Amino acid sequence: MSLDVQALRAQFPILSRKVNDKPLVYLDNAATTQKPQAVLDAIMDFYTTTNANVHRGAHALSDEATRRFEKARDDVAAFINANDRKEVIWTAGTTEAINLVAKGLGQLLKAGDEVVVTEMEHHANLVTWQQACKVSGATLKVAPIFDSGELDTDAFTALLNTNTRLVAFPHVSNALGTLNPVKLLTAKAKKHGALVLVDGAQGIAHGGVDVQDIGCDFYAFSGHKLFGPTGTGVLWGRANVLQDWPVWLTGGEMIADVTYQDATWGELPNRLEAGTPNIAGAVGLAAAVNWFSALDTHAVQAHEKALLASAHEQADAFDGMRIVGTAPAKMGVMSFILDGIHPADVGYILDQQGVAIRTGDNCAQPLMKKFNIPGTARASFSIYNSLDEVDVLFSALRKAHMMLA
Ligand code: PMP
Repeated sequence: MSLDVQALRAQFPILSRKVNDKPLVYLDNAATTQKPQAVLDAIMDFYTTTNANVHRGAHALSDEATRRFEKARDDVAAFINANDRKEVIWTAGTTEAINLVAKGLGQLLKAGDEVVVTEMEHHANLVTWQQACKVSGATLKVAPIFDSGELDTDAFTALLNTNTRLVAFPHVSNALGTLNPVKLLTAKAKKHGALVLVDGAQGIAHGGVDVQDIGCDFYAFSGHKLFGPTGTGVLWGRANVLQDWPVWLTGGEMIADVTYQDATWGELPNRLEAGTPNIAGAVGLAAAVNWFSALDTHAVQAHEKALLASAHEQADAFDGMRIVGTAPAKMGVMSFILDGIHPADVGYILDQQGVAIRTGDNCAQPLMKKFNIPGTARASFSIYNSLDEVDVLFSALRKAHMMLA
């Protein structure tokens, strides 16, 4: 069954607006996705009918809010095939999820320990480990990628040894679109007894993520890149790892017993969720997950593949355009450079024509330095984009090239 893109688009109110008097062509989905009416309705409904703080239990509204909040956890747990609902920890997004792990690991690391990341990391999955290593005296090792943007898995494997405490890599690179063989990389790291964190910020919105199948210890993602609200995210972690994980945020909700001098921590998931959570956000994220799950995953992936294939085909035929990131396995993202034109100028001209893309370093400065470029322009696709919109992108790019090259 193929995806009915027009019917999908009709569920996203923002997609029918105009920008600069032109129909919006939204191709910045790797930065954040748009929200379907089902998500907007769920958030509105929560605030309209159920709003109260959770886990306080003194009145009916609080009970209802708690039930909706915890049901959201169940929905997300099912979505990623978590073994146990308590393995789903709410965070503000991928960045916070990675920090939760890194701040905890920072308390466990010592000199001689090693953390392995890749050259294609988003700053969230690089700076965080870099700083955890700095404060603990551990060593950060960076696995190289080929010029195509594909990870050099042999070089990655060669970095692993018995000192490797944690390995972190992206499911999909936000800057290059590279789809990493996460199961294979996890198995390699596990042979040395290392913990494995997958940065799923760009991997989660394409369907089919099964954390048990991957075999990792942590999987981090943001709600806003999955048709859900900003300020939401999830750290999934194995219960036996999370139950003793050093806490980094302390306060209400996460404690068991408190005296003036000391405190003990509660059980999962609460021990890692200090303070009032983003309740309406969790409800909105669950609505997004349920909305997305109702789609046919094969159709979703086939459509996204067709969008990227059309973009690549048109780029190959475009004199003066170079794709940055040509790994054989890619998803959702096409970064590129128009010869002699700064990416920011490309972005400006496209915006004038209603086409929204990202330009800049893609939160991956070391990667841009490696490729010796100031940044890229990046078109990123989602399920509601049509093949016609890819054509609009390219006619806008031809215009930019004519005007600026
Ligand atoms: N990792 C990757 C691969 C990303 O693309 C992003 C978002 N651009 C992040 C981490 C950080 O996500 P957030 O800003 O939602 O915390």
